[in-house]
Amino acid sequence: MTSSVCEENIQESQSISFILSQKGKPLLVLNKHLFKLNKSTDSKQYWICTIKGCPAKVHTKNSNVFDKMIDDHKC
Ligand SMILES: [Zn+2]
Repeated sequence: MTSSVCEENIQESQSISFILSQKGKPLLVLNKHLFKLNKSTDSKQYWICTIKGCPAKVHTKNSNVFDKMIDDHKC
């Protein structure tokens, strides 16, 4: 019997991309949701959903590496 290869380990490799808003501000795109940069430190960036009142947040590290997703979308 051959065992099938199972690669469910996608948590660390969320497909994120970065674009610029019309005003030239950086935006993060994750799962078709847009996030704007809320705060950044030397090594970490904190992004919040662009929809007002939505609690979803994303942290990235080293500028463009997905770190973690905090809360979920209400939008
Ligand atoms: Zn949202």
